[in-house]
Amino acid sequence: MLKFLKQVGDYTKEAVQAAKYIGQGLSVTFDHMQRRPITVQYPYEKLIPSERFRGRIHFEFDKCISCEVCVRVCPINLPVVDWEFNKETKKKKLNHYSIDFGVCIFCGNCVEYCPTNCLSMTEEYELATYDRHELNYDNVALGRLPVSVTHSDPIVTPLKELAYLPKGVLDPHNLPEGSRRAGKLPAEILEETSK
Ligand code: SF4
Ligand code: SF4
Repeated sequence: MLKFLKQVGDYTKEAVQAAKYIGQGLSVTFDHMQRRPITVQYPYEKLIPSERFRGRIHFEFDKCISCEVCVRVCPINLPVVDWEFNKETKKKKLNHYSIDFGVCIFCGNCVEYCPTNCLSMTEEYELATYDRHELNYDNVALGRLPVSVTHSDPIVTPLKELAYLPKGVLDPHNLPEGSRRAGKLPAEILEETSK
């Protein structure tokens, strides 16, 4: 009899424990049901990069003096500066310049230290390719003017970061009293907030 009662007691304890765990799991679910959606529907919506975003590097061939400072300050000596000495002008002549974005860590050191400011960081972040060798940009590809990732395509809705949240709120949980309910389409929320 005592053994049976002990088994019943153990079983009850385990059942209570299991119910507690289920409750904990559901509390996370309910918490998320109350919050605003913050998922960006990429590629139909894209976040506007911040002003100092470090994207694809732009290079101005004519301004480069082949000093190789960018190579020395790069943590992985990445930029390839191919130059030759012109005996007539007694100056270096740049033949070719390249940066492999498959290896670059976008630290911005080369941009920071270039003495002629011929390097700059753009807001381009869509660098995906099927072949990683295509990420090795030569001076022609580096010299291409940057395109705006959020304004170049009419089907793209540019979004400011956390655009679904009320102004000044950074936490999608515990929204202030009177905030519009969660679950609306991003376009609806943006339309309402722009009124
Ligand atoms: S951004 Fe950094 S890692 Fe990339 S080339 Fe410049 S210095 Fe090197
Ligand atoms: S630091 Fe600037 S000027 Fe010097 S080689 Fe690099 S890109 Fe050219």
